[in-house]
Amino acid sequence: MVTVESPSRLLIGGRWHSAEKDATFDILEPATGEVMARAASASPADVDTAVEAARAAYESGSWSNMPASGRARVLYRIAELIRKEVDRLATLEARNAGKPIRDARDEVLGAAQCFEYYAGAATRIFGETIPVTSPGLDFTLREPVGVVALIVPWNFPLSIASWKVAPALAAGNTAILKPASYTPLTAIELGRIALEAGLPEGVLNVITGPGSITGNALAGHPDVDKIAFTGETLTGVSILQQAAPNITRVSLELGGKSPNIIFEDADLAKAAPAAVASVFGNAGQDCCARSRAFVQRSIAQEFDERVAAGTKALRVGDPLDEQTEMGPLISVKQRERVQGYIDVGNKEGARLIAGGSTPAGRPANGSFLEPTVFDNADNRMRIAQEEIFGPVLTIIAFKDEEEVVRLVNANQYGLSGSIWTRDIGRALRVAKGVRTGVLSINSSRSVHQEAPFGGYKRSGIGRELGMHALQLYTEVKNVFISLE
Ligand code: NDP
Repeated sequence: MVTVESPSRLLIGGRWHSAEKDATFDILEPATGEVMARAASASPADVDTAVEAARAAYESGSWSNMPASGRARVLYRIAELIRKEVDRLATLEARNAGKPIRDARDEVLGAAQCFEYYAGAATRIFGETIPVTSPGLDFTLREPVGVVALIVPWNFPLSIASWKVAPALAAGNTAILKPASYTPLTAIELGRIALEAGLPEGVLNVITGPGSITGNALAGHPDVDKIAFTGETLTGVSILQQAAPNITRVSLELGGKSPNIIFEDADLAKAAPAAVASVFGNAGQDCCARSRAFVQRSIAQEFDERVAAGTKALRVGDPLDEQTEMGPLISVKQRERVQGYIDVGNKEGARLIAGGSTPAGRPANGSFLEPTVFDNADNRMRIAQEEIFGPVLTIIAFKDEEEVVRLVNANQYGLSGSIWTRDIGRALRVAKGVRTGVLSINSSRSVHQEAPFGGYKRSGIGRELGMHALQLYTEVKNVFISLE
């Protein structure tokens, strides 16, 4: 079993507590199916204790009233400690989430950068003066929302936790972080690191346990002021329902079915490898995965051949091997779900041009699956419409600009997307027409620490990252001073 500081404890009020009745659950390693650690399973009573601790820390002003420069110093220190432990944290993340070690290392460094960014941002949260009609001076204050619940998924555990914890703390809130049950280990480590960095007790609490119990109790808690959630769209619906009676503020980063649009004048030497990398990164378990490729009919055959060859060349294997490009899926259940979609694609009449089954030579209990590509798909097929959240690419041919914008928008999601063309006018017309929150032209990058990230339609509410995220974690207070 791997050792983490206090893996089967909850971090509440600056101390490590067992869950009620010492309840725990097993954490598996996706590459082998073996138990690698145990985590505490927080009951609704434990959730109450965590919320009380966060409230007490908030009310004490130890953090919310600390000068912003003091908060910045603690956040910098957290970043520094993450950097110091990059190899250890990356190994933990690679084993627990099944992701290639090279990617895990980048993600851990990205988490450090996120804390550095919001350390800098902490001293740049300010209001406005407003020229009102009444005789007087009007200005706004940006204040912390209060106690925030941060509920995160298993695909990028430390990254997504950092995207939420860092801006929430920069703005002076206190927080309860609830990681996904598959991957709680780096969130627990983040709690320990925050304490070591000098974060006052109770400002960051980390509680583990099933979403249906722990997450649900947190989302419906009357003393939580704001919930920031990343996960499945249907879980987002449930969170909105839980939050509604308390009018708790909610921001949601949800599912996606992101399009990759390749026009006939695109540089295929770049677009084809990018199409492979942007859907099979993290074994396709990425809300921004370019899981729908729309290719202009005149180049479809060449594009499909290049993509199939690139897919077959991917090195699928042990997450801890530096050469591995794709690891296992998060669980056997997830692999079975994705395999179900491959069956659906075959039945719907799309053509399988790469992958489609479990790779040879991998541990029987591991949740490995071949990267899989379908072409000749129709936009109405389920494999073109639904978020598979696994290594499956669906290629759909299109005739012209007008048609591709219509096809792309005929989907419930609107998170991310890419456009490949050498014609800048066309790129910008399509970028304006497509309803997604994040787009890249001649690139498949979706995430920049400094820029807003989030979705249209059923992909979510609100924007994380950059200075935009601070809007999620602050209230605006308007103050008028009469000069009469
Ligand atoms: P889930 O929605 O199943 O879980 C996300 C988190 O919510 C977990 O911590 C989970 O706990 C918790 N949870 C589950 N049920 C409830 C509930 N009823 N009330 C409160 N909390 C609950 O998502 P996954 O972890 O399966 O993540 C995959 C999904 O995340 C995909 O749909 C993907 O597209 C989306 N995603 C979106 C991103 C974006 O930015 N738009 C980024 C990354 C992922 P537990 O693990 O214990 O079940």
